[in-house]
Amino acid sequence: MWEWEILENECKNCTKCELHKSRLNVVIDRGNRNAGLMFIGEAPGATEDRVGKAFVGNAGKMLDLALTGLGIAEDDIYICNILKCRPPNNINPTKEQALMCMGYLMKQIELVKPDVIVLLGGVALKHLIDSSLGITRSRGSWTEFNEIPVMPTYHPAALLRDDSKKMDMWKDIKEAWKRTKNS
Ligand code: SF4
Repeated sequence: MWEWEILENECKNCTKCELHKSRLNVVIDRGNRNAGLMFIGEAPGATEDRVGKAFVGNAGKMLDLALTGLGIAEDDIYICNILKCRPPNNINPTKEQALMCMGYLMKQIELVKPDVIVLLGGVALKHLIDSSLGITRSRGSWTEFNEIPVMPTYHPAALLRDDSKKMDMWKDIKEAWKRTKNS
């Protein structure tokens, strides 16, 4: 437990990149810190910045809808982002920002010890696995990170713009869920 407290404290006091100047809240996570299924997105949006929790805006609602549809409970998942502070105007995280924030994500992965990681969107894929990869080609295919199976899929915000991606995202999450101990 104290390790989470140390991590939270470090994030809340972090001034490593310029995003600390404009944040309202540091957004660390949402969900069960012992879950088998871990989701990683790119960065907090406006609602997350205001509330201080990950994936509580419209994209989060899309994700929750998928989870409910697949019979996956809130307690079965853990969600966080590459960045802990909101980039103004929701611009994509820069390589430098992602690098500076990466240590916190590494600690989260180490503490949660997930069975499976689902990467939500191309930004998470590029920063965690390979900067040359794109989400359209990579989604639905297993890769790995530090020996943890990784399933890339669309960011739920993409579903808000293009409903046809919904079935693919649901399918990818279902595949990932099947590889967790709780499924
Ligand atoms: S985004 Fe990450 S590295 Fe930048 S200030 Fe926030 S916690 Fe620190």
